[in-house]
Amino acid sequence: MVNEIHRPAPASLQVAVADTLKWGTPGRVPFSVEFMPPRNDAAEQRLWSAAEAFHDLGASFVSVTYGAGGSSRERTERVASRLAVKPLTTLLHLTLVDHREEELRDILREFASLGLTNLLALRGDPPGDPMGDWTPVDGGLNFAHELIELVRSMPECVDFDIGIASFPEGHYRAGSLEDDTRYTLQKLQAGASYSITQMFFDVDHYLRLRDRLAAADPVHGAKPIIPGLMPITSLKSVRRQLELSGASLPTDIDELLTRAAAGDEVKNAAGIREAGIEVTSRMAERLIAEGAPDLHFMTMNNVRATQEVLHNLGMAPAWGPELGQDMVR
Ligand SMILES: Cc1cc2nc3c(=O)[nH]c(=O)nc-3n(C[C@H](O)[C@H](O)[C@H](O)COP(=O)(O)OP(=O)(O)OC[C@H]3O[C@@H](n4cnc5c(N)ncnc54)[C@H](O)[C@@H]3O)c2cc1C
Repeated sequence: MVNEIHRPAPASLQVAVADTLKWGTPGRVPFSVEFMPPRNDAAEQRLWSAAEAFHDLGASFVSVTYGAGGSSRERTERVASRLAVKPLTTLLHLTLVDHREEELRDILREFASLGLTNLLALRGDPPGDPMGDWTPVDGGLNFAHELIELVRSMPECVDFDIGIASFPEGHYRAGSLEDDTRYTLQKLQAGASYSITQMFFDVDHYLRLRDRLAAADPVHGAKPIIPGLMPITSLKSVRRQLELSGASLPTDIDELLTRAAAGDEVKNAAGIREAGIEVTSRMAERLIAEGAPDLHFMTMNNVRATQEVLHNLGMAPAWGPELGQDMVR
C-alpha cells in the first residue's frame, strides 16, 4: 500500500466542481463518480484501476466519501491527494460526526494545505445506526450549514468551492418537504454553489426538488443540482440501498426487476442486471433531456456498471473482457 500523502497537489489542477458543470453541450453532459476509501491493499489496487479507467473515460470529477466517526480521515485524505495529482478534480466529503469545531478547523486547514479545495459539506449519520438519533459531540456542530459557515469564516479556505447533499424525496428526518426545502436553501444561502442528490429511482422526484428550490429562492435555489445515480445491478443491492437511504422504488421498476428475477435471483442474476442497467440508462437519458448539469455515479469503486450506462448513452466505449475481470460487478 502506498502510504504517502502527495503534497501539495498543484492548486491549478483543482478546477472548482461548480466550473465543471459548465462543460456540458446540448444533449451531452459531463459525468462524475463517487469512490469510497479502500479498506485494504486489494481494495486499494481496485480503486486505482477504477481511477485510471474513469480518468480515461473523461470523468469531470471524482468524489471521495468520509466514513462515520472520522474513521477514514487518513485514508480519505491520502486517496484524495493521490487522485488530485493524477490529475483528477477531486471532491472531498467531510462530516461533523465525532468532530469538535477545533478538529474540523484542523481538517479544513489540512485539506487547504494539500490544495484540495472542493468540499462536500455534510452532517453525516449517527455512527453504527444511520437511522438513529443524532447527538453532536461536545463543542461540535449540529447541521451542515454550520460547517459551510465555518469554512467561509476561515481565510485559509478562501478558495474552497462547496457542495451539499440534497434529497429528492426529502431527508427522512425533515418534518415535511417544506422544511426540507428550507434547510436545503439554508445551506445554499450559506455559501454552497451546488448540491448532489441522494440516489433516487424516479426522475420526477428530482424534477420536483428542482422546482421546489427554484420557486422558494430564484437565486440560491436555482444553483445546479447534480443527480446521484446508483446503477442497478442486483435486487439485493437495490434493497440494501433503499433501506440505507430511505429512497423509494417506483412500482414499474420493482415489477420489471421482479419479472427479470422470475422467482430465482441467483439463477437469473444476469437478467436482473441487464434490466437494472437499462433502467438506470433510461433515467440518465431523461435527466439529460431535462437539463441535469452532470450525472454523478455512485460506483462502489467499480467501473463496469457505470461504463455500461455511459455506453448506452453514447458517452463511452462498450465494456470488453480486455478491460479486466476485477472490476466486474
Ligand atoms: C451526495 C451525498 C453524499 C454523502 N456522503 C456521505 C459521506 O461521505 N459520509 C457520510 O457519513 N454520510 C454521507 N451522506 C449522508 C448524509 O450525511 C446524511 O444523509 C445525513 O443524515 C444528512 O446530511 P446533511 O449534510 O444533509 O445534513 P443537514 O443538512 O445538516 O441535515 C440534517 C438533518 O437536520 C435537518 N435540518 C437541517 N437544517 C436544520 C435546521 N436549521 N433546523 C432544524 N433541522 C434542520 C435536515 O432536514 C436533516 O433531517 C451523503 C449524502 C448525500 C446525499
